[in-house]
Formats: sequence, C-alpha cells, structure tokens
Amino acid sequence: MTAQLPLPDPRTDILRRVQAALVARFGRVVRPADKRRSPEWTLVQGLVGAQTKTARSNASTDTLLATYGTWDAVADAEVEQLAALLHLQTFPDMSARRLKTCLLAIRARCRAVDLSQLAAIETAAAMDWLEALPGVARKISAQVVNTSTLDRPAMVIEGHHRRIMQRMGLVPPRADTTRCYDELMPVLPPEWSGADMDEHHLLLKQLGQSFCRPRQADCPACPLRADCQVAPRGP
Ligand code: SF4
Repeated sequence: MTAQLPLPDPRTDILRRVQAALVARFGRVVRPADKRRSPEWTLVQGLVGAQTKTARSNASTDTLLATYGTWDAVADAEVEQLAALLHLQTFPDMSARRLKTCLLAIRARCRAVDLSQLAAIETAAAMDWLEALPGVARKISAQVVNTSTLDRPAMVIEGHHRRIMQRMGLVPPRADTTRCYDELMPVLPPEWSGADMDEHHLLLKQLGQSFCRPRQADCPACPLRADCQVAPRGP
C-alpha cells in the first residue's frame, strides 16, 4: 500500500486569491528597499507604537535617533526626557518606560543596543530571541525580522489583519496574534517571499481601514466577499 500524501490546505489558495483581489482593488504596495530600516530602529518603532498611527511612530522614532545619536544614548536617557520626545504617541509615558526597559535589557545581553547578531541566526530563533525581551510579543518580533533590512519571511499581524482573518474563517474566531501567526505561517503560499508577506499585510491593513472596519463591515462592496465566511450570500 502506498502512503497517501496529505491534502493541501485550502487556505493556501484562498490566500493567493485574497492577494490578487487586494492588488486589483488597491494596487501594489511594495516597500522600497531604501525604506527598510535597521532592526534596532524597527524594534523601537514597534515598542513606542501602541495604538498610534504608523506615520507618527515613524516620526517619533526618527526624533529619538536624531536627538541622541545612538540607541545606547537613548537607553541612557531619563524616562521623562524620552516621554517628552514621544509626545506624538498615544501613550508617551508608557512608551518611554517600555522603550528604556527593553533597550537596557538588550544591552545587558549584548553589551550594546545592537541587534546585528540576528542576521546570523535563522528566523524562528531570531523571533524567540526578540520575544524574550520585555515588551516584545509576536507582532513586534515579526515586524523586526520582516520589515527591517533583515527582510525575512515572517507575517506581521496587527489588529486589522487579525480581525479580517477571523471574519474570513481562516483562523479561529478568538485567535490572538500568536495563534494567528502559528495558523497562517504554515499555509502561506510557499512561493511568497518576505516582501510578499509584507505587501499582504499592508494590503489587509488598507482593507481593514476601508471595507472591513471594526464596527462596520461593508461586505457587499468588499473585494474579498467571495471567500469570506461572514459575507452574506446572495439569494
Ligand atoms: S466580506 Fe465583510 S467581513 Fe469579510 S472581509 Fe470583506 S468586509 Fe470583512
């Protein structure tokens, strides 16, 4: 008797269709190579970015580096000074405390706020290393390895992305970010690169800000309705 090969997960083809439908609706969203920042910059942007628009968090992160010159100098700054520079953020005080605690933890492990060693280890191990830092969970660890100059295949999953995957039935209804990541990574189309995953996430974010909003889903006009469990079916 010959062994049966496992059937392919239907979510892989659905995700391919999702990507095609989103590109058809919103156009390509490709992060240019010169917009990829260092792993340290990307980590800081994630640490200060709670419930704040990306453009503001980017500006705050640039301000920190421009003011202190190095991430080690940021680690040495007083929390009150950091909070003042993070005034654009939704939670400046919390962001400042979280940032300093994490940067000091990196220095305790690496002697400097320097993540260059991540380039030499494989993606899952790099994410585990990051998630052992205070304040770093799956969204930030994936963001650091995927959207920085590391450019690794890892899916960043924030609130919009998670909600859409839940509504579509591609992950369990109450799956948190880590569960979503663990469900989706094994079924992503194998031909997708790290840049494709980044684009997929950015496109889903656009859908979450337009059609699939938290309280008001515009299912009749949504480009993903054919593959969505929540979308009302026609007569
Ligand atoms: S069909 Fe509705 S619930 Fe499904 S992804 Fe689109 S807007 Fe969201």
